[in-house]
Parts: sequence; C-alpha cells; structure tokens
Amino acid sequence: MSREASRHLFAPLALLPGGWATDVGLDLDGAGNLTGVTAGAASKGRDRLDGPVLPGFPNLHSHAFQRAMAGLAEHRGSDPEDDFWSWRKLMYGLAGALMPEEIQAIAAQLYVEMLEAGYTAVAEFHYLHHQPDGRPYDDLAELSERVIAAAKEAGIGITHLPVMYLTGGLGGKPATEGQRRFLNPPERFLRLVETLRSRHGGDADIAFGIAPHSLRAVPPDALKAIVAAVDAATPIHIHIAEQTGEVDQCLAWSGKRPVEWLVENAPVDRRWCLVHATHMTSDEIRRAATSGAVAGLCPTTEANLGDGFFPAEDWRAAGGTLGLGSDSHISVSVIEELRWLEYGRRLVARRRNRLTGTGGIKDLFLAALDGGARASGRPIGRMAPGRRADMIVLDQDAATLAEIPPDRLLDALVFAGNVNPVKHVMVGGRWHVRDGRHSRRDDILSRYRRALASVRSRL
Ligand SMILES: [Zn+2]
Repeated sequence: MSREASRHLFAPLALLPGGWATDVGLDLDGAGNLTGVTAGAASKGRDRLDGPVLPGFPNLHSHAFQRAMAGLAEHRGSDPEDDFWSWRKLMYGLAGALMPEEIQAIAAQLYVEMLEAGYTAVAEFHYLHHQPDGRPYDDLAELSERVIAAAKEAGIGITHLPVMYLTGGLGGKPATEGQRRFLNPPERFLRLVETLRSRHGGDADIAFGIAPHSLRAVPPDALKAIVAAVDAATPIHIHIAEQTGEVDQCLAWSGKRPVEWLVENAPVDRRWCLVHATHMTSDEIRRAATSGAVAGLCPTTEANLGDGFFPAEDWRAAGGTLGLGSDSHISVSVIEELRWLEYGRRLVARRRNRLTGTGGIKDLFLAALDGGARASGRPIGRMAPGRRADMIVLDQDAATLAEIPPDRLLDALVFAGNVNPVKHVMVGGRWHVRDGRHSRRDDILSRYRRALASVRSRL
C-alpha cells in the first residue's frame, strides 16, 4: 500500500451514515475528497482494503502542549484538597517554559499518536500565543504556525482555534503572571485569526475557528466583539461549566449559572461547541441542546481532573449533539473516550446500557462522528460524497474482533480488549498509518524526547 492512495477502493465492510454496508466502492478525487460511495459494488478494478472501514474520527478538543505533562500530576501534593486548580498550577509552569520548536515537537508527537489511534482530525484549542514574558513574537501567529506545522508534518486535519484570553476571573479580575502568554485584546486577537486565514485559507485539511477560553477569561463585551466579527460558518468553542467551583463563582458574579448565562447572553447556535458543559440543570440542558450547539465531551480528562459526569442521557433525550475530545491527552484513544462516557453513566445510574441502545454503541459512535465534524467546521465524519477521504481500516486479525458479527463490531471495539486494532489510517486521500505505524513515528518521537529533556532541564 503506497502513501498515495488509489482513487478507487473496495471495502468489504464499511460504516456508512446509515450503518454497516458490505462491498462498498469508494471513489476519491485528486484533492482528497470522496466522490462516490456505493454499497454492493463490484471489486474489479479497485484496491481492496483488508479490514472493516470506519470514517476517521474527529477529536474536537485538544491542548497539544499538555501532552508533555500527561502522567506527571498523578501524585497527591501537600494540599489535601488536591483538585483541578493544583493541576492547573503545574500546567502553567510548563506553559510558561516552552519554546516554539518545543511546542511543535510536542504537538507533532501528539498528532502521530492521534492518527495511530484513529483520530484523523483535531480541533486545537490553542492559547499559548506569546513569548514567556508576555510580549508577542515578531510574527503574532508564531505559535499557531508551530502547531499547524506539526499537523502538516503528521498529516492530521486541523481546525485551529486561537483562544481569546483576557482576564484572570469573572468580573474583570486581572490576569496572573502565569497567564501572560495567553493574553490578547479583541482587536489583536481578530488580527491573529485573519492573518492565519489569509495564509492557510486554501488548504482543505485546515480550518479556523475562534475560542473564547471561558467566562472566567473573556468579559461579556469582549465575547460580544469577537463573536460578532465571525461569519455563520466559523466554529466557536468555549470551556463551560466544567467545575462546580466555576458554577458557584458564576452565580456569585451574575446570579446565573454558566450555561444559563451563556445561552441568555450570546447567540449560541450550531457553530458553538460547549466544551465539558458538565454541570447543567434540566432547564440548561433543554436550552443548550435545542440551540444546536455541540457538547464537547472529554471523558478521560474529565475523570482525571475530577470534574463530574456529563448528563448524557438527558442531553441526548433533549435532542443534543455531542462529540469527543482528548483535551489534556491523559489518554489518546477514541475507544477509551467512548468507553468512559458509557461507563460513567452506568456507575452513576447503577444500571447497564445507558447510551448503548438496541443497536449497541453504533448510534452513539455515528452521533459523535457527526458532532465532531460539526464542531470542526470541516466536511468530515462520514463516508459520503463531498466529504474528505478520512478513514480507518481495522485489523481484521485482531483477537478482539475475531468472529464478531458486523452489528456487534463497534461494541467489541469499544468494550472488549485493550490492544489498538487501528491498522491503516488515511487523511485526505493519503495513508499516514500503515500496519499500525505512522510513517514518521521514529523521527518525530526522537525530536519529542529531545524537546522534553530540554524543557525539563529548565523547569
Ligand atoms: Zn480544555
């Protein structure tokens, strides 16, 4: 199998928007788009894919640099109430120290891992903008460019979301020293977005959105200004209601809960991705779900940080859309995100099959593909004409999948086994992972090791 894919492929079994289909012919154009997807096709003249085929999975929430601290915050410190905020202190230490080439090295390593796990696109919530002392680089977009360069090196599709960060807390609390690399007033922030768009607008594997960091970090007038400046197709991502402490602070500030405040004060619609949205009342669930916003769930990070459980059954019952992200990258696994989402609900309810319906996890899987695509603002997430040719071929020899009938294949994939069964991965018509291995795994890993050694020597 060469890196440049054949334009005519044959999948004995493929997951299409309506469910599993057999003998699927896949036609690609030279720009990496699917032009034809036909079930019941003849295999003649087509390159046969050697396992079940899934659409590539969009990862809708990532802070790439945090990959470098995964595993380093799992011991209790002197504070017996060790929680999110002590984790954040450690994270700020790293964020303050990283050099541009280190940020690129870490992001490239992460994106290789994502591709090997079956994530073919990432929405990168990028808030490191400036030099360690807070002064902008000569190129305002220096660090955004490093992350985009890492995505290009690895070959993953990216929705780059520059983050707007202005204040250190609700009510205009000044930002702290640990936050100075993040800060941009609205005018400079919008200039950054425009600069990036003008440089990369023609690349089908890159899109841009905006990310007001949170209600803590973006005052109402600044939120209004940046949201008013973008068009109807631009994704808008925000962290919201992740921690109960944040809910309490928001109530004290405004008399409203975070999601309640947001839906009443911002034009929340299908462009929006509400990242976490963990703590909602039934009224907030109804209002946010019917707005068309995507709930951006990151179950392994939410578990790691002790956030709480997203009310997934109520969200789905209200017609809400959701997608999945790996956020802090404590785990880079589509399988683990799906498994934790379902298991969390089972543990809360003390009952089985909360999000898995009569069709198993397939409906949730398809819904998370669609939600991730919507939050990415790119034509991905489905095997259908007009979408990007982003796909995963599973290892048909994996013991986990042996002798499993097609309608139980995703259940076996998600709930049984801990060996990664992702065999080949294509993004935009190009193979980047073959036989479980990214084509640049070794050189990107050695550069990552050097970058980590260097940054740790300075911490
Ligand atoms: Zn986040």
